[in-house]
Amino acid sequence: MRRFRWIAAVAVLAAVAVPVKAEAYNQVTDYVSSGHGYLNPQYLVIHETANPGASAWNHVQLWSRDDTYAVNYVMELDGSTVYHTVPDNRLCWQVGNGNGYVYGIELAHATNAADFSKQWNEAVKWAGDQLRSRGWDTSRLLSHYDCSQRWGGSDHTDPIGYFRSYGKTWAQFKQAVADYLGSGYVAPIAPTDGNGGTYGGSGYSSSAFPKSSGACVNVHYALHNRGGDWNSEVTNFNDSDEDGFAGMPYGSHDMLIAWADTGTLRYRVHTKESGWLDWVQAASYSDSVNGMAGVWGQTIDGVQMYYVTESGDYRQVYYRSQDVDHAGYWSEVCDDGTTYGGDDYAGFYGHALDRLQVYISDGTRR
Ligand SMILES: [Zn+2]
Repeated sequence: MRRFRWIAAVAVLAAVAVPVKAEAYNQVTDYVSSGHGYLNPQYLVIHETANPGASAWNHVQLWSRDDTYAVNYVMELDGSTVYHTVPDNRLCWQVGNGNGYVYGIELAHATNAADFSKQWNEAVKWAGDQLRSRGWDTSRLLSHYDCSQRWGGSDHTDPIGYFRSYGKTWAQFKQAVADYLGSGYVAPIAPTDGNGGTYGGSGYSSSAFPKSSGACVNVHYALHNRGGDWNSEVTNFNDSDEDGFAGMPYGSHDMLIAWADTGTLRYRVHTKESGWLDWVQAASYSDSVNGMAGVWGQTIDGVQMYYVTESGDYRQVYYRSQDVDHAGYWSEVCDDGTTYGGDDYAGFYGHALDRLQVYISDGTRR
């Protein structure tokens, strides 16, 4: 039931178009710049000003005089106020080569633990509210340091050192945001092109997966048509007929059910409306909370799976998908991307997933 209450909360939020009541920070629009061009951000980046004691308001004034390095938002020393200084769709020079992918916030550098503690709590909420408003999860939350590593053109490492000076880590920040969002799951960083199925940016290819010895654990799975019925259940996969994949070509689906003959198959789905939902590891057509993944009526656009071997034997789940807007299958995914690398989910955010193939083996069969 928790999921349905959450959906209701989102509906209320959309209807009144004001921040959720849980917020304690006060956000003020005070544009001082229109930036350096158009921006369609794909990530949210967190900075720290490196100006100990200088207030957020000091930065608003500074940027109104010289907007060269103005950032979209700046949060007060004690987290009480967030100034929205550059529109989200305007480019800021903030992370070097990755500028075209991110919008961000500067945290004013608190000089005492009491302020830092308050600011930390508000920054967690603010970041969570931003991600939720865009349908994103923590896979799109980056530190400036992450951006420097990812795209280059900047050697800044903030806010790592600032957090550390108060005994906190970036990993703890992401975990706190994930907890605030309700899932508690810290997602791996999303591919830059926003496509879980085709990312090739790190020299990844499916040849990085070990080859299957041919031994498989049977896996059974089915997709439910949004507003309709369950499609037929498929065991393992084939590429020759319609029993070789789950789903309805060119349809959209709201529920996924899956299980393995032995071991434990964990799975979850991402929907256009709610982002990633909770993991499940059971299968029951009569239990829409714990026995399947999804929310009735919402459109699945991503699937993630992870196989836990029963004993001694080491196997993974391999899966791939198509969506209604692109031809052909996206690259195969192994577990959640942490076992042998590669993509971390099957699908493409924003595009209804219409076909899914799954098998469990000790390597890829492709
Ligand atoms: Zn920075």
